Amino acid sequence: MKKCLVCNSPDTSMFLECTDHFVSGEKFIVNRCKTCGFRFTANAPDEMSIAGYYHSENYISHSNTQKGIVNSLYHQVRKFMLGQKCKMIKHFTPGKKILDIGCGTGHFLNYMQHKGFQVSGVEIEPSARKFAMENFNLAVRSPRETLNEKHTGEFDVVTLWHVLEHIYDIKGYLEWIFDSLKPNGFLFVALPNFDSYDAQKYAKYWAAYDVPRHLWHFNPLTFEKLINQYEFQTIRVKPLVFDAYYNCMMSARYAGKKLSFLQGLFTGQISNFHSLFNPEKSSSVVYVVKKPGPKQ
Ligand SMILES: [Zn+2]
Repeated sequence: MKKCLVCNSPDTSMFLECTDHFVSGEKFIVNRCKTCGFRFTANAPDEMSIAGYYHSENYISHSNTQKGIVNSLYHQVRKFMLGQKCKMIKHFTPGKKILDIGCGTGHFLNYMQHKGFQVSGVEIEPSARKFAMENFNLAVRSPRETLNEKHTGEFDVVTLWHVLEHIYDIKGYLEWIFDSLKPNGFLFVALPNFDSYDAQKYAKYWAAYDVPRHLWHFNPLTFEKLINQYEFQTIRVKPLVFDAYYNCMMSARYAGKKLSFLQGLFTGQISNFHSLFNPEKSSSVVYVVKKPGPKQ
């Protein structure tokens, strides 16, 4: 049995059996740590064989096809969210040097570049990297290239938009990010949240388990525990209201519900209502994390 990534406890056991509805149809086990509550995909394929689990027409984060109403909505919302993310970053820091890890086809960085930011990206998928470089003229490196370089104190902002849960060497990355941020720099991390109403309602059908692509499953408590192992501080937890609708629509579809689109909208609304005054119950959240300034 694997040890808990967050608290190192060996006391973990099976919590759910989830199906990969997106690509393979295979079943995967989500384990739970009995000590801290952290959840992780226990039998995810190793890093060498995961690529095949991303190869689907359905995997819209990297695709530009606008098929179907969910995909079309996703693209509309993505456009809107670019502005929201930019606003949020500007709210916390005047810094302009930004690194987006898992930048995909580079839409976010392209947007930020037009807003006057000095941007660069990291992306594992060669075709997405090529798209970003050729279409948006962005500087995008592979994870290996990036992690092998020292960027000590270079960036004002590092972003991980729904990326950290996909990363195998999560601790190696966090260490590298901590080192690469300037003092008082900011890290923005968007993650699904298993404390949400929709995670509890849909249980093994909850789309944001997204096994085996999501290796790690967080709630605010376990995220905080992980980030505290560095000198990072979470200073704000912000809800991602559109993610609730998306997660619920996909979950309803996986659960075989008729009219999954409408059911998803409805459940997403309830989920957002539950988290209205408590962002820590949101379907997905952005953790605003700060690296402390130099010691006095
Ligand atoms: Zn634990």
